[in-house]
Amino acid sequence: MTSFDYDLVVIGAGSGGLRAARIAASHGARVAIAEEYRIGGTCVIRGCVPKKLLVYASRFHGDFEDAKGFGWTLTGAQFDWPTLIANKDIEIARLEAAYRSTLDRWKVETFASRAVVTGPNSVKLITPGREISTRYILVATGGHPELSGTTPGHQLAITSNEAFHLKRQPKRILIAGGGYIAAEFAGIFAGLGTDTTLLYRGDQILRGFDQDLRDDVSAAMRARGVKIVTGHTIAGIAKTRDELTATLSDGRTLHVDEVMYAIGRKPNTKGLGLETAGVELTPRGAVVVDQQSRSTVASIYAVGDVTDRIALTPVAIREGHAFADTVFGKKTSHADHTLIPTAVFTEPEIGTIGLTEAQARILYGAVDIYKTRFRPMKYVLAGRDERMLMKLIVDPVSDKVVGCHVLGPDAAEIVQMAAIAMKMGATKQDFDSTMALHPSAAEELVTMRDKWVPPAI
Ligand code: FAD
Ligand code: NDP
Repeated sequence: MTSFDYDLVVIGAGSGGLRAARIAASHGARVAIAEEYRIGGTCVIRGCVPKKLLVYASRFHGDFEDAKGFGWTLTGAQFDWPTLIANKDIEIARLEAAYRSTLDRWKVETFASRAVVTGPNSVKLITPGREISTRYILVATGGHPELSGTTPGHQLAITSNEAFHLKRQPKRILIAGGGYIAAEFAGIFAGLGTDTTLLYRGDQILRGFDQDLRDDVSAAMRARGVKIVTGHTIAGIAKTRDELTATLSDGRTLHVDEVMYAIGRKPNTKGLGLETAGVELTPRGAVVVDQQSRSTVASIYAVGDVTDRIALTPVAIREGHAFADTVFGKKTSHADHTLIPTAVFTEPEIGTIGLTEAQARILYGAVDIYKTRFRPMKYVLAGRDERMLMKLIVDPVSDKVVGCHVLGPDAAEIVQMAAIAMKMGATKQDFDSTMALHPSAAEELVTMRDKWVPPAI
Protein backbone atom coordinates (compact mmCIF):
# COMPACT_ATOMS: atom_id res chain seq x y z
CA MET A 1 0.00 0.00 0.00
CA THR A 2 1.31 3.47 -0.92
CA SER A 3 2.29 5.55 2.08
CA PHE A 4 1.61 9.26 2.02
CA ASP A 5 2.93 12.11 4.17
CA TYR A 6 -0.68 12.98 5.08
CA ASP A 7 -4.15 11.53 4.76
CA LEU A 8 -5.50 14.95 3.83
CA VAL A 9 -4.01 18.22 2.62
CA VAL A 10 -6.47 21.12 2.68
CA ILE A 11 -5.68 24.11 0.50
CA GLY A 12 -7.24 27.21 2.03
CA ALA A 13 -7.98 27.87 5.71
CA GLY A 14 -11.36 29.54 5.26
CA SER A 15 -14.84 28.48 6.33
CA GLY A 16 -14.94 25.21 4.40
CA GLY A 17 -11.29 24.21 4.75
CA LEU A 18 -11.08 24.83 8.49
CA ARG A 19 -14.17 22.79 9.24
CA ALA A 20 -13.05 19.93 6.99
CA ALA A 21 -9.56 19.87 8.55
CA ARG A 22 -10.87 19.78 12.11
CA ILE A 23 -13.50 17.11 11.48
CA ALA A 24 -11.12 14.93 9.45
CA ALA A 25 -8.58 15.18 12.29
CA SER A 26 -11.29 14.26 14.81
CA HIS A 27 -11.86 11.10 12.74
CA GLY A 28 -8.17 10.24 13.17
CA ALA A 29 -6.79 11.52 9.86
CA ARG A 30 -3.30 13.05 9.61
CA VAL A 31 -4.13 16.49 8.26
CA ALA A 32 -2.18 19.47 6.92
CA ILE A 33 -3.64 22.80 5.87
CA ALA A 34 -1.99 25.46 3.69
CA GLU A 35 -3.06 29.09 3.82
CA GLU A 36 -1.46 31.84 1.75
CA TYR A 37 -2.99 34.81 3.59
CA ARG A 38 -4.60 34.60 7.03
CA ILE A 39 -6.28 31.78 8.95
CA GLY A 40 -10.04 32.31 8.85
CA GLY A 41 -10.53 32.99 5.16
CA THR A 42 -12.86 35.49 3.59
CA CYS A 43 -15.66 35.32 6.14
CA VAL A 44 -13.54 35.98 9.20
CA ILE A 45 -10.80 38.18 7.75
CA ARG A 46 -12.53 40.25 5.05
CA GLY A 47 -16.14 39.16 4.74
CA CYS A 48 -19.07 38.42 7.02
CA VAL A 49 -17.47 39.25 10.36
CA PRO A 50 -15.73 42.60 9.70
CA LYS A 51 -18.68 43.54 7.47
CA LYS A 52 -21.17 42.96 10.29
CA LEU A 53 -18.99 45.02 12.66
CA LEU A 54 -19.07 47.88 10.17
CA VAL A 55 -22.84 47.42 9.78
CA TYR A 56 -23.26 47.75 13.55
CA ALA A 57 -21.17 50.92 13.49
CA SER A 58 -23.22 52.42 10.69
CA ARG A 59 -26.55 51.80 12.41
CA PHE A 60 -25.85 54.06 15.37
CA HIS A 61 -26.54 56.99 13.07
CA GLY A 62 -30.20 56.02 12.64
CA ASP A 63 -30.45 54.99 16.29
CA PHE A 64 -29.28 58.43 17.39
CA GLU A 65 -31.92 60.05 15.16
CA ASP A 66 -34.61 57.72 16.51
CA ALA A 67 -33.58 58.33 20.12
CA LYS A 68 -34.80 61.95 20.00
CA GLY A 69 -38.45 60.86 19.89
CA PHE A 70 -37.87 58.89 23.09
CA GLY A 71 -36.65 61.96 24.93
CA TRP A 72 -32.92 61.63 24.44
CA THR A 73 -30.81 64.61 23.59
CA LEU A 74 -27.57 63.60 21.99
CA THR A 75 -25.14 66.35 21.32
CA GLY A 76 -21.69 66.17 19.90
CA ALA A 77 -21.89 62.60 18.57
CA GLN A 78 -18.78 62.08 16.47
CA PHE A 79 -17.63 59.17 14.39
CA ASP A 80 -13.96 58.26 14.00
CA TRP A 81 -13.14 55.83 11.18
CA PRO A 82 -9.57 54.93 12.33
CA THR A 83 -10.94 53.89 15.75
CA LEU A 84 -13.53 51.61 14.14
CA ILE A 85 -10.97 50.03 11.80
CA ALA A 86 -8.42 49.54 14.59
CA ASN A 87 -10.98 47.93 16.92
CA LYS A 88 -12.28 45.76 14.10
CA ASP A 89 -8.70 44.62 13.37
CA ILE A 90 -8.18 43.66 17.02
CA GLU A 91 -11.30 41.50 16.95
CA ILE A 92 -10.31 39.86 13.68
CA ALA A 93 -6.84 39.08 15.07
CA ARG A 94 -8.49 37.53 18.15
CA LEU A 95 -10.66 35.31 15.97
CA GLU A 96 -7.72 34.34 13.78
CA ALA A 97 -5.77 33.27 16.86
CA ALA A 98 -8.74 31.24 18.08
CA TYR A 99 -8.95 29.36 14.77
CA ARG A 100 -5.21 28.76 14.83
CA SER A 101 -5.33 27.29 18.32
CA THR A 102 -8.21 25.01 17.28
CA LEU A 103 -6.03 23.66 14.48
CA ASP A 104 -3.16 23.14 16.93
CA ARG A 105 -5.46 21.39 19.40
CA TRP A 106 -6.50 18.91 16.72
CA LYS A 107 -2.86 18.49 15.62
CA VAL A 108 -3.53 19.82 12.14
CA GLU A 109 -0.19 20.90 10.66
CA THR A 110 -0.45 24.46 9.37
CA PHE A 111 1.65 25.80 6.51
CA ALA A 112 1.69 29.56 5.96
CA SER A 113 2.17 29.18 2.24
CA ARG A 114 0.48 29.22 -1.09
CA ALA A 115 -0.09 25.65 -2.25
CA VAL A 116 -0.55 24.25 -5.72
CA VAL A 117 -1.69 20.85 -6.85
CA THR A 118 1.03 18.92 -8.68
CA GLY A 119 -0.82 15.63 -9.13
CA PRO A 120 -3.75 13.59 -7.79
CA ASN A 121 -1.79 12.91 -4.60
CA SER A 122 0.75 15.70 -4.37
CA VAL A 123 0.78 19.33 -3.37
CA LYS A 124 3.60 21.84 -3.59
CA LEU A 125 4.05 24.37 -0.80
CA ILE A 126 5.42 27.41 -2.56
CA THR A 127 7.12 29.23 0.32
CA PRO A 128 9.30 26.39 1.57
CA GLY A 129 9.34 25.08 -2.01
CA ARG A 130 8.52 21.60 -0.75
CA GLU A 131 6.32 18.89 -2.21
CA ILE A 132 4.17 16.78 0.09
CA SER A 133 2.20 13.63 -0.70
CA THR A 134 -1.32 12.99 0.47
CA ARG A 135 -4.09 10.43 0.07
CA TYR A 136 -6.70 13.17 -0.46
CA ILE A 137 -6.61 16.84 -1.42
CA LEU A 138 -9.37 19.26 -0.48
CA VAL A 139 -9.49 22.44 -2.54
CA ALA A 140 -11.11 25.12 -0.38
CA THR A 141 -9.56 28.20 -1.91
CA GLY A 142 -12.66 30.40 -2.03
CA GLY A 143 -13.00 33.28 -4.47
CA HIS A 144 -11.85 36.81 -5.17
CA PRO A 145 -13.62 40.01 -6.18
CA GLU A 146 -13.95 40.69 -9.88
CA LEU A 147 -12.63 43.96 -11.25
CA SER A 148 -14.01 45.30 -14.48
CA GLY A 149 -10.72 44.63 -16.28
CA THR A 150 -11.58 46.34 -19.55
CA THR A 151 -12.79 49.60 -18.02
CA PRO A 152 -10.16 52.34 -18.40
CA GLY A 153 -8.81 53.28 -14.98
CA HIS A 154 -10.25 50.24 -13.18
CA GLN A 155 -6.93 49.92 -11.30
CA LEU A 156 -7.88 53.07 -9.40
CA ALA A 157 -10.89 51.32 -7.87
CA ILE A 158 -11.05 49.31 -4.67
CA THR A 159 -13.04 46.18 -3.83
CA SER A 160 -14.46 44.98 -0.53
CA ASN A 161 -10.97 43.66 0.33
CA GLU A 162 -9.52 47.16 0.45
CA ALA A 163 -12.65 48.80 1.87
CA PHE A 164 -11.91 47.15 5.22
CA HIS A 165 -8.51 48.81 5.41
CA LEU A 166 -9.01 52.35 4.11
CA LYS A 167 -6.86 54.75 6.10
CA ARG A 168 -9.49 57.48 5.82
CA GLN A 169 -13.23 57.39 5.54
CA PRO A 170 -14.13 58.55 2.03
CA LYS A 171 -16.29 61.66 1.99
CA ARG A 172 -17.82 60.48 -1.30
CA ILE A 173 -17.95 56.98 -2.71
CA LEU A 174 -19.29 55.37 -5.88
CA ILE A 175 -20.10 51.69 -5.54
CA ALA A 176 -20.66 49.67 -8.71
CA GLY A 177 -22.86 46.56 -8.52
CA GLY A 178 -26.28 45.70 -7.24
CA GLY A 179 -25.76 42.47 -5.29
CA TYR A 180 -25.13 41.63 -1.66
CA ILE A 181 -21.81 43.43 -1.28
CA ALA A 182 -22.75 46.60 -3.15
CA ALA A 183 -26.00 46.97 -1.21
CA GLU A 184 -24.43 46.22 2.16
CA PHE A 185 -21.48 48.57 1.69
CA ALA A 186 -23.76 51.32 0.40
CA GLY A 187 -25.63 51.06 3.70
CA ILE A 188 -22.41 51.02 5.71
CA PHE A 189 -20.87 54.07 4.07
CA ALA A 190 -24.10 56.06 3.99
CA GLY A 191 -24.77 55.24 7.65
CA LEU A 192 -21.31 56.46 8.57
CA GLY A 193 -21.90 59.74 6.79
CA THR A 194 -20.23 59.18 3.42
CA ASP A 195 -22.00 60.65 0.40
CA THR A 196 -22.81 57.33 -1.29
CA THR A 197 -23.85 56.53 -4.84
CA LEU A 198 -24.81 52.97 -5.80
CA LEU A 199 -24.59 52.29 -9.51
CA TYR A 200 -26.40 49.24 -10.87
CA ARG A 201 -26.54 48.13 -14.50
CA GLY A 202 -30.09 46.73 -14.33
CA ASP A 203 -33.36 48.36 -13.37
CA GLN A 204 -33.58 47.22 -9.75
CA ILE A 205 -30.89 46.12 -7.30
CA LEU A 206 -30.69 42.63 -5.73
CA ARG A 207 -31.72 40.58 -8.74
CA GLY A 208 -32.87 37.13 -7.67
CA PHE A 209 -34.59 38.37 -4.50
CA ASP A 210 -38.37 38.72 -4.18
CA GLN A 211 -39.55 41.79 -6.12
CA ASP A 212 -41.33 43.32 -3.12
CA LEU A 213 -38.11 43.08 -1.09
CA ARG A 214 -36.12 44.66 -3.90
CA ASP A 215 -38.56 47.54 -4.37
CA ASP A 216 -38.99 48.24 -0.67
CA VAL A 217 -35.32 48.00 0.27
CA SER A 218 -34.19 50.29 -2.52
CA ALA A 219 -36.87 52.85 -1.61
CA ALA A 220 -35.83 52.69 2.05
CA MET A 221 -32.13 52.95 1.19
CA ARG A 222 -32.87 56.02 -0.91
CA ALA A 223 -34.84 57.53 1.97
CA ARG A 224 -31.83 56.89 4.21
CA GLY A 225 -29.58 58.82 1.85
CA VAL A 226 -28.12 56.33 -0.64
CA LYS A 227 -28.26 57.66 -4.20
CA ILE A 228 -29.18 54.68 -6.36
CA VAL A 229 -28.49 55.08 -10.06
CA THR A 230 -29.81 52.27 -12.27
CA GLY A 231 -29.35 51.32 -15.90
CA HIS A 232 -25.71 52.36 -16.11
CA THR A 233 -22.16 51.16 -15.59
CA ILE A 234 -18.80 52.82 -15.18
CA ALA A 235 -17.25 53.71 -18.54
CA GLY A 236 -13.96 54.97 -17.11
CA ILE A 237 -12.17 56.22 -14.03
CA ALA A 238 -9.52 58.91 -13.96
CA LYS A 239 -7.48 60.43 -11.17
CA THR A 240 -7.59 64.18 -11.04
CA ARG A 241 -5.52 65.81 -8.28
CA ASP A 242 -6.92 64.51 -5.01
CA GLU A 243 -10.12 62.95 -6.30
CA LEU A 244 -11.39 60.37 -8.76
CA THR A 245 -13.62 61.17 -11.68
CA ALA A 246 -15.88 58.35 -12.78
CA THR A 247 -17.54 58.61 -16.15
CA LEU A 248 -20.78 56.68 -16.38
CA SER A 249 -22.08 54.92 -19.49
CA ASP A 250 -24.42 57.86 -20.21
CA GLY A 251 -21.48 60.27 -20.19
CA ARG A 252 -22.27 61.76 -16.79
CA THR A 253 -19.30 62.32 -14.49
CA LEU A 254 -19.10 61.83 -10.75
CA HIS A 255 -16.36 63.21 -8.52
CA VAL A 256 -15.60 60.93 -5.60
CA ASP A 257 -12.84 59.90 -3.19
CA GLU A 258 -13.22 56.16 -3.82
CA VAL A 259 -14.75 53.95 -6.47
CA MET A 260 -15.58 50.47 -5.25
CA TYR A 261 -16.38 47.52 -7.50
CA ALA A 262 -18.76 44.93 -6.06
CA ILE A 263 -19.66 43.16 -9.26
CA GLY A 264 -19.35 39.55 -8.17
CA ARG A 265 -16.64 37.10 -7.20
CA LYS A 266 -14.73 34.44 -9.11
CA PRO A 267 -13.41 31.07 -7.88
CA ASN A 268 -9.70 30.98 -6.91
CA THR A 269 -8.33 28.34 -9.26
CA LYS A 270 -5.91 30.31 -11.39
CA GLY A 271 -2.45 28.76 -11.27
CA LEU A 272 -3.61 26.10 -8.83
CA GLY A 273 -2.50 23.23 -11.07
CA LEU A 274 -5.91 21.59 -11.10
CA GLU A 275 -6.20 21.20 -14.87
CA THR A 276 -2.82 19.46 -15.08
CA ALA A 277 -3.97 17.04 -12.40
CA GLY A 278 -7.04 16.28 -14.56
CA VAL A 279 -9.65 18.21 -12.57
CA GLU A 280 -12.47 19.61 -14.69
CA LEU A 281 -13.30 23.29 -14.26
CA THR A 282 -16.32 25.28 -15.42
CA PRO A 283 -15.81 28.16 -17.88
CA ARG A 284 -15.77 30.50 -14.84
CA GLY A 285 -12.97 28.44 -13.31
CA ALA A 286 -15.04 26.69 -10.62
CA VAL A 287 -14.21 23.10 -9.67
CA VAL A 288 -16.83 20.70 -11.02
CA VAL A 289 -17.96 18.44 -8.18
CA ASP A 290 -20.61 15.83 -7.49
CA GLN A 291 -23.05 15.86 -4.57
CA GLN A 292 -20.29 14.58 -2.26
CA SER A 293 -17.99 17.43 -3.38
CA ARG A 294 -15.73 15.02 -5.28
CA SER A 295 -14.06 16.44 -8.39
CA THR A 296 -13.45 14.55 -11.60
CA VAL A 297 -10.25 13.18 -9.99
CA ALA A 298 -11.17 10.62 -7.30
CA SER A 299 -8.64 11.82 -4.70
CA ILE A 300 -9.41 15.54 -5.10
CA TYR A 301 -12.45 17.17 -3.51
CA ALA A 302 -13.57 20.80 -3.40
CA VAL A 303 -15.91 22.73 -1.12
CA GLY A 304 -17.14 26.28 -0.68
CA ASP A 305 -16.98 29.26 -3.02
CA VAL A 306 -14.43 27.59 -5.30
CA THR A 307 -17.21 25.28 -6.48
CA ASP A 308 -19.55 28.17 -7.39
CA ARG A 309 -22.56 26.53 -5.80
CA ILE A 310 -23.95 28.78 -3.07
CA ALA A 311 -21.41 31.33 -1.85
CA LEU A 312 -22.36 31.54 1.82
CA THR A 313 -20.30 30.67 4.88
CA PRO A 314 -22.68 28.18 6.51
CA VAL A 315 -22.87 26.32 3.19
CA ALA A 316 -19.07 26.08 2.88
CA ILE A 317 -18.91 24.85 6.49
CA ARG A 318 -21.55 22.16 5.92
CA GLU A 319 -19.85 21.05 2.71
CA GLY A 320 -16.49 20.77 4.48
CA HIS A 321 -18.05 18.85 7.36
CA ALA A 322 -19.91 16.45 5.05
CA PHE A 323 -16.71 15.83 3.07
CA ALA A 324 -14.77 14.92 6.23
CA ASP A 325 -17.56 12.67 7.54
CA THR A 326 -17.88 10.92 4.18
CA VAL A 327 -14.19 10.35 3.50
CA PHE A 328 -12.81 9.87 7.02
CA GLY A 329 -15.80 9.23 9.28
CA LYS A 330 -17.40 6.26 7.50
CA LYS A 331 -20.61 8.32 7.36
CA THR A 332 -21.69 9.25 3.84
CA SER A 333 -23.33 12.63 3.90
CA HIS A 334 -23.72 15.76 1.84
CA ALA A 335 -24.69 19.36 2.45
CA ASP A 336 -28.37 19.99 1.82
CA HIS A 337 -28.62 22.89 -0.58
CA THR A 338 -32.36 23.36 -0.28
CA LEU A 339 -34.13 26.01 1.78
CA ILE A 340 -31.07 28.05 2.70
CA PRO A 341 -31.90 31.18 4.68
CA THR A 342 -29.92 34.27 3.80
CA ALA A 343 -29.73 37.90 4.86
CA VAL A 344 -28.60 41.10 3.24
CA PHE A 345 -27.34 43.42 5.95
CA THR A 346 -28.59 46.57 4.37
CA GLU A 347 -30.36 49.21 6.44
CA PRO A 348 -33.16 48.13 6.68
CA GLU A 349 -32.08 44.53 6.53
CA ILE A 350 -33.39 41.62 4.49
CA GLY A 351 -33.98 38.07 5.70
CA THR A 352 -35.27 35.58 3.21
CA ILE A 353 -35.74 31.87 2.61
CA GLY A 354 -37.36 29.74 -0.05
CA LEU A 355 -39.01 30.77 -3.26
CA THR A 356 -39.67 34.28 -4.44
CA GLU A 357 -43.22 34.99 -5.56
CA ALA A 358 -42.12 34.87 -9.21
CA GLN A 359 -40.34 31.52 -8.76
CA ALA A 360 -43.33 30.06 -6.91
CA ARG A 361 -45.73 31.14 -9.64
CA ILE A 362 -43.58 29.37 -12.23
CA LEU A 363 -43.37 26.23 -10.10
CA TYR A 364 -46.91 26.01 -8.76
CA GLY A 365 -48.98 28.19 -11.09
CA ALA A 366 -51.36 29.63 -8.53
CA VAL A 367 -49.93 30.58 -5.14
CA ASP A 368 -51.37 32.25 -2.07
CA ILE A 369 -49.59 35.38 -0.95
CA TYR A 370 -49.83 36.81 2.53
CA LYS A 371 -48.12 40.11 3.02
CA THR A 372 -48.17 43.05 5.32
CA ARG A 373 -46.38 46.38 5.47
CA PHE A 374 -46.43 48.15 8.80
CA ARG A 375 -44.52 50.69 10.80
CA PRO A 376 -42.52 48.91 13.53
CA MET A 377 -43.59 50.13 16.98
CA LYS A 378 -40.20 51.69 17.67
CA TYR A 379 -40.47 53.91 14.60
CA VAL A 380 -43.68 55.58 15.68
CA LEU A 381 -42.22 57.62 18.54
CA ALA A 382 -39.00 57.93 16.56
CA GLY A 383 -40.95 59.61 13.79
CA ARG A 384 -39.33 57.35 11.21
CA ASP A 385 -41.58 56.79 8.23
CA GLU A 386 -40.25 53.39 7.24
CA ARG A 387 -42.34 50.24 6.79
CA MET A 388 -41.46 46.69 7.64
CA LEU A 389 -42.42 44.07 5.06
CA MET A 390 -43.40 40.49 5.83
CA LYS A 391 -44.44 38.12 3.11
CA LEU A 392 -45.33 34.45 3.06
CA ILE A 393 -45.75 32.44 -0.10
CA VAL A 394 -47.93 29.38 0.22
CA ASP A 395 -48.56 26.44 -2.08
CA PRO A 396 -52.40 26.29 -2.04
CA VAL A 397 -52.50 22.55 -2.70
CA SER A 398 -50.25 21.35 0.15
CA ASP A 399 -50.70 24.53 2.25
CA LYS A 400 -46.90 24.51 2.72
CA VAL A 401 -45.10 27.79 3.26
CA VAL A 402 -42.60 27.83 0.40
CA GLY A 403 -41.21 31.35 0.80
CA CYS A 404 -40.73 33.75 3.67
CA HIS A 405 -39.40 37.26 3.09
CA VAL A 406 -38.81 39.91 5.71
CA LEU A 407 -37.50 43.47 5.42
CA GLY A 408 -36.89 45.50 8.53
CA PRO A 409 -35.23 45.42 11.95
CA ASP A 410 -33.95 41.98 12.94
CA ALA A 411 -35.06 40.38 9.66
CA ALA A 412 -32.08 38.01 9.72
CA GLU A 413 -32.88 36.84 13.25
CA ILE A 414 -36.56 36.34 12.42
CA VAL A 415 -35.92 34.37 9.24
CA GLN A 416 -33.36 32.09 10.88
CA MET A 417 -36.15 30.88 13.20
CA ALA A 418 -38.79 30.68 10.47
CA ALA A 419 -36.29 28.52 8.56
CA ILE A 420 -36.61 25.75 11.15
CA ALA A 421 -40.35 25.61 10.67
CA MET A 422 -40.05 25.66 6.89
CA LYS A 423 -37.37 22.97 6.92
CA MET A 424 -39.80 20.83 8.91
CA GLY A 425 -42.41 21.38 6.21
CA ALA A 426 -44.61 23.83 8.11
CA THR A 427 -47.95 24.71 6.55
CA LYS A 428 -49.71 28.04 6.71
CA GLN A 429 -52.05 26.36 9.19
CA ASP A 430 -49.02 25.60 11.42
CA PHE A 431 -48.04 29.27 11.30
CA ASP A 432 -51.64 30.28 12.11
CA SER A 433 -51.94 27.91 15.05
CA THR A 434 -48.71 29.23 16.60
CA MET A 435 -49.43 31.69 19.39
CA ALA A 436 -48.23 35.21 18.71
CA LEU A 437 -45.48 36.69 20.89
CA HIS A 438 -46.63 40.19 21.71
CA PRO A 439 -45.52 42.89 21.24
CA SER A 440 -43.04 41.90 18.56
CA ALA A 441 -42.68 42.42 14.84
CA ALA A 442 -42.28 38.71 14.18
CA GLU A 443 -45.81 38.04 15.46
CA GLU A 444 -47.07 39.34 12.12
CA LEU A 445 -45.80 36.10 10.57
CA VAL A 446 -48.36 34.11 12.58
CA THR A 447 -51.23 36.59 12.43
CA MET A 448 -51.63 37.21 8.71
CA ARG A 449 -55.05 35.77 7.86
CA ASP A 450 -56.09 37.48 4.63
CA LYS A 451 -54.69 36.46 1.30
CA TRP A 452 -53.20 39.34 -0.61
CA VAL A 453 -55.31 40.35 -3.57
CA PRO A 454 -53.66 42.35 -6.34
CA PRO A 455 -55.19 45.82 -6.54
CA ALA A 456 -57.79 46.24 -9.30
CA ILE A 457 -56.35 48.27 -12.17
P1 FAD B 1 -12.76 31.36 1.90
O1 FAD B 1 -13.35 31.67 3.22
O2 FAD B 1 -12.65 32.45 0.90
O3 FAD B 1 -11.33 30.74 2.18
C1 FAD B 1 -10.44 30.43 1.15
C2 FAD B 1 -9.02 30.58 1.69
O4 FAD B 1 -8.13 29.98 0.76
C3 FAD B 1 -8.58 32.02 1.82
O5 FAD B 1 -8.11 32.24 3.14
C4 FAD B 1 -7.46 32.18 0.81
O6 FAD B 1 -6.44 33.07 1.24
C5 FAD B 1 -6.94 30.75 0.71
N1 FAD B 1 -6.26 30.41 -0.54
C6 FAD B 1 -6.69 30.66 -1.80
N2 FAD B 1 -5.84 30.10 -2.69
C7 FAD B 1 -4.85 29.50 -1.96
C8 FAD B 1 -3.71 28.73 -2.31
N3 FAD B 1 -3.40 28.45 -3.58
N4 FAD B 1 -2.91 28.27 -1.32
C9 FAD B 1 -3.21 28.53 -0.01
N5 FAD B 1 -4.29 29.24 0.36
C10 FAD B 1 -5.12 29.70 -0.60
N6 FAD B 1 -21.42 34.81 3.71
C11 FAD B 1 -22.40 34.68 4.63
O7 FAD B 1 -22.90 33.56 4.84
N7 FAD B 1 -22.84 35.75 5.37
C12 FAD B 1 -22.32 36.99 5.21
O8 FAD B 1 -22.73 37.94 5.87
C13 FAD B 1 -21.29 37.16 4.24
N8 FAD B 1 -20.73 38.37 4.06
C14 FAD B 1 -19.72 38.51 3.15
C15 FAD B 1 -19.16 39.76 2.98
C16 FAD B 1 -18.15 39.94 2.07
C17 FAD B 1 -17.54 41.32 1.88
C18 FAD B 1 -17.68 38.83 1.30
C19 FAD B 1 -16.56 39.02 0.31
C20 FAD B 1 -18.23 37.58 1.46
C21 FAD B 1 -19.26 37.41 2.38
N9 FAD B 1 -19.86 36.17 2.58
C22 FAD B 1 -20.87 36.03 3.50
C23 FAD B 1 -19.44 34.99 1.80
C24 FAD B 1 -18.47 34.11 2.61
O9 FAD B 1 -17.40 34.90 3.08
C25 FAD B 1 -17.94 32.98 1.74
O10 FAD B 1 -19.02 32.28 1.17
C26 FAD B 1 -17.08 32.01 2.55
O11 FAD B 1 -16.01 32.66 3.17
C27 FAD B 1 -16.56 30.89 1.65
O12 FAD B 1 -15.73 30.04 2.37
P2 FAD B 1 -14.62 29.17 1.61
O13 FAD B 1 -14.06 28.23 2.62
O14 FAD B 1 -15.18 28.61 0.38
O15 FAD B 1 -13.52 30.20 1.14
P1 NDP C 1 -23.46 39.26 -6.38
O1 NDP C 1 -23.43 38.13 -7.32
O2 NDP C 1 -24.36 39.20 -5.21
O3 NDP C 1 -23.75 40.61 -7.16
C1 NDP C 1 -22.98 41.01 -8.25
C2 NDP C 1 -23.59 42.28 -8.79
O4 NDP C 1 -22.73 42.85 -9.76
C3 NDP C 1 -24.93 42.06 -9.47
O5 NDP C 1 -25.76 43.15 -9.18
C4 NDP C 1 -24.55 42.03 -10.94
O6 NDP C 1 -25.60 42.47 -11.77
C5 NDP C 1 -23.44 43.04 -10.97
N1 NDP C 1 -22.50 42.82 -12.07
C6 NDP C 1 -21.94 41.67 -12.47
N2 NDP C 1 -21.08 41.88 -13.47
C7 NDP C 1 -21.10 43.21 -13.73
C8 NDP C 1 -20.43 44.03 -14.63
N3 NDP C 1 -19.55 43.54 -15.51
N4 NDP C 1 -20.69 45.37 -14.62
C9 NDP C 1 -21.57 45.87 -13.73
N5 NDP C 1 -22.24 45.14 -12.83
C10 NDP C 1 -22.01 43.82 -12.82
O7 NDP C 1 -21.93 39.43 -5.93
P2 NDP C 1 -21.26 40.16 -4.72
O8 NDP C 1 -19.90 40.48 -5.20
O9 NDP C 1 -22.12 41.24 -4.20
O10 NDP C 1 -21.17 39.02 -3.62
C11 NDP C 1 -20.63 37.74 -3.95
C12 NDP C 1 -21.32 36.67 -3.17
O11 NDP C 1 -20.86 36.67 -1.81
C13 NDP C 1 -22.83 36.84 -3.05
O12 NDP C 1 -23.51 36.36 -4.17
C14 NDP C 1 -23.15 36.05 -1.81
O13 NDP C 1 -23.30 34.70 -2.14
C15 NDP C 1 -21.91 36.27 -0.96
N6 NDP C 1 -22.17 37.33 0.04
C16 NDP C 1 -23.09 37.08 1.00
C17 NDP C 1 -23.43 38.06 1.91
C18 NDP C 1 -24.46 37.76 2.94
O14 NDP C 1 -24.76 36.59 3.16
N7 NDP C 1 -25.02 38.77 3.61
C19 NDP C 1 -22.79 39.37 1.90
C20 NDP C 1 -21.81 39.52 0.85
C21 NDP C 1 -21.53 38.53 -0.05
P3 NDP C 1 -26.78 41.50 -12.30
O15 NDP C 1 -27.65 41.25 -11.13
O16 NDP C 1 -27.40 42.33 -13.35
O17 NDP C 1 -26.10 40.28 -12.82
